[in-house]
Parts: sequence; structure tokens; C-alpha cells
Amino acid sequence: MTGQLCMHGAARAVTGSSHEVVLAAETVLVDCGVFQGEPDAAARNRRAPIDDVAALRAVVLTHAHLDHVGRLPLLVQRGYCGPILGHPATLAIAEIVLRDAAKISAYDGSGSYRLDDVDATIAQFAPVSYGARQSVADRVDMTLFDAGHILGSASVLLESKGATILLSGDLGRRGTPILRDPNRTYPPFTRVDHVVIESTYGDREHPSSSAIEDRLRDVLRRALEDGGKVLIPAFSIGRTQELIYHLRAVAAEGELAGERAGVPIIVDGPMGLEITALYERFLDAWDAESLALRRAGAGPFSFDGLYGARTPRASELARTIEGPAIIVAGSGMCTGGRILAYLEELLPDERTHVLFVGFQAKGTLGRTLVNGARKVVLSGKTIPVRARMTTLPGLSGHADRRELLAWLAGVPGVRSVFVGHGEPEACDSLADAITRSLGIPAVAPAESQPQSLGT
Ligand code: ZN
Repeated sequence: MTGQLCMHGAARAVTGSSHEVVLAAETVLVDCGVFQGEPDAAARNRRAPIDDVAALRAVVLTHAHLDHVGRLPLLVQRGYCGPILGHPATLAIAEIVLRDAAKISAYDGSGSYRLDDVDATIAQFAPVSYGARQSVADRVDMTLFDAGHILGSASVLLESKGATILLSGDLGRRGTPILRDPNRTYPPFTRVDHVVIESTYGDREHPSSSAIEDRLRDVLRRALEDGGKVLIPAFSIGRTQELIYHLRAVAAEGELAGERAGVPIIVDGPMGLEITALYERFLDAWDAESLALRRAGAGPFSFDGLYGARTPRASELARTIEGPAIIVAGSGMCTGGRILAYLEELLPDERTHVLFVGFQAKGTLGRTLVNGARKVVLSGKTIPVRARMTTLPGLSGHADRRELLAWLAGVPGVRSVFVGHGEPEACDSLADAITRSLGIPAVAPAESQPQSLGT
């Protein structure tokens, strides 16, 4: 056998990405994320994805979302002292994400690592640029390709004499603001034997993203007509920056939002603001359109009427603003974060609009509100819901079925595909589509079930 793949997370499920790849007898781990939302997630998150850290030659990160990096400190705690490779932006975001995770776990007592474990982890970070082929073990080379999902996100190509494998990481949508589209061109003579592909939306197609600003304008017009506030729950990494980009375009027209319209746009929360500052730092990962905007002095992350509320005091002040305002705050599914205080105060007001821009998982407050609950319990109090709920479709950090198939069709020489990072229906549906429409054998392996990587 030339190689082996073991998906220790995100196998017939979405979270916990950690893929052990053995090529030429060298072991590389791609991602080391936490499980989220599953009943036994907390217990599973106390275990490292692999026990034998001594055999591990390198860890490579596709991107810095917690479900891809959250268990890194556990590896280091257990004695892993090799490199943790990723795009420089991924490593910078991972630093913020891991420090935050350590603080939260210390706070709620769930912690399996502390800040000093995170410090030790960060000391092992080794930045790698897109397209720069480099050795990660004696007989294995690695190259990162832009995955267009969040800043620094990458697909990881691992090459040995015996076999080559490309792990997609999370793939973004074409045309996502700021980011370049997922890579479609590979160096000459690249031959990829095996692919691991995500399938979050493997069984679905998104509405077109091209008209997103028109839909946003419509929603804001309706929402602001009666002078209320628009609350937008949004993830700090990726979605917040995308929203700022679109709100800038609307504010530039001077009619509905921003300084001239007299409707402030407030981004509330230190994490969203810190990540936005990082987006400003890594201009080499931006697409041409956003760079042109920036050169023309048109943001996209600073413009008149855009404010940040970093401290709790600033957040408190933002909540007392009279008149219409647009507030972007985490968490994206209303499961915690600064959005909760706004909801507590503004849900009883019928002039309030809550605008959902992302997927709301079962069991979250976001889902309850989207489903039309007339009252909710917040901080132990029953709050009547008179606010109106609106969903803005089309904003998604993940490629849909059509885009996933198109990305895969562009990878040269693929002989077998492993589908992961999706609910079972999405995994199976995409695997089936790959086999039928591209003629490539595809399976969705169970967790930790070894898959042979032959040539
Ligand atoms: Zn992600």
C-alpha cells in the first residue's frame, strides 16, 4: 500500500475536521478541529485526534475556523513539537481564535487546554505562501492553493513518489467579496490521484450571489422605513467582513445606510473587529476588485458611518442610540456573544428587524427566531418577540453542489474521491453526483476508517 487516509472528524458530519494522511510512510495531519453541536462534542473535544504524536511529521491547516484548528493545543500538550503549517493569514487568525477558545473554556470549566498551551502551539506556527511547494517530511512535499472560503483558506496538495492527494479544505463561492475565487489552475504536470472534498452544501444549490446587494437594499428599505433597528447576527470570521463590504456599497449611495443617510452601521465585538483588521493586513490574499476599491480610497473596511464597538462600555453605548441603526454582532446563530444583549432589549420592539445571513442550526436561538417563536428566554427572562425576522439568502461561505463539482472537474488526473465535511445526506448525494457526472469513484468514509491511497 502506498498510502492511507483516516478522517478522524468531519466524516459523514460537518465539524471536527482532522485528516491523517500517510504517504511514503510519513504521517501528516491536515487540520485539527473541534466538534460542534453534537451531544458528545465536549467529551470528544478533550481527546486529540491521534494518539501517536511521535509519528507525526507535520500538521497543515486549511484555514482558521475553530472546527479546523480548535484541538491543536491538545496535540502540543501531548508532546507534538513539529511544524504547524498554514498561510500567514490562517496562522494570524488561528492565534486569535485559539486564545479566545482557551479563555472561553477556562471560563465555563470545559477547558482541556489553557493559554500557555496556546502560546506553545503558536510558537510552532510556520507560514507558507500559496503556490510555494515545500517539503513537509523527508519524502512528502506540500503546496497550498487558495480555497476562497475565508482569508488565508487553502486546499492542501500532498505529493510523494507513490501517490498524491489534494484536500479541498472548505471551498468558498465564486465571486465572494474580497477573496479570490477557489483555485482552478495547477502547475504543469500536476497529477492528483486522490481528492478529499467538503460537502457542506453537497446536496443543494444556492441562489445567485450576484444580486445580493439588491436584496440587502430591499430588506434595509423595508426595515428602516419605520425607524427601527436592524440587527444582523454574523460570524466574526468571514461573514462580518463580507457584510461590511456589501453595506459599504449601500452606504456609498447615501440613501439607506451610513453617514449621509443618518443611519450608523455598528460592528459590535472585539473578535469581528480584530479579524477585520487582519483582513486589512493581508492584502496579498485579496481579489483585484477589492484592491481597486482600496486604491480608489473606497474602503472597503472604513467609510463614513461605520463604527466599531470594541469594549463592553462601547457596546452599552451603542445599545442606547436613538433612531435607526444597523448593528452587526456575533454570534452568527445567536448562541452567545454581544448580539444577545441587543436581542434582549430590542426583540419586544415591533420596529426591530433581525436579518439572518447564514445557516441557523437546529437547537440554536437563531433557528427558534427564524421559526417564528413569539417569546424566548434570555438571561433567565421571558422576552416577547414582536420584532420581524428576515432571511437574506445567497450569502454563504461554502460552494454549493454545482460549484463543488466544477472545482473537482478542474483538478487534473483524479482517480478517487473521498467526500467529507457534510451531513450524511449531503456526503452521499455529492459522492453519487461525482461518480455519475464525472465518472470518478467516490465514497463518504466513516470516521477513522482507514482508506487506502493506491497509485
Ligand atoms: Zn470553514
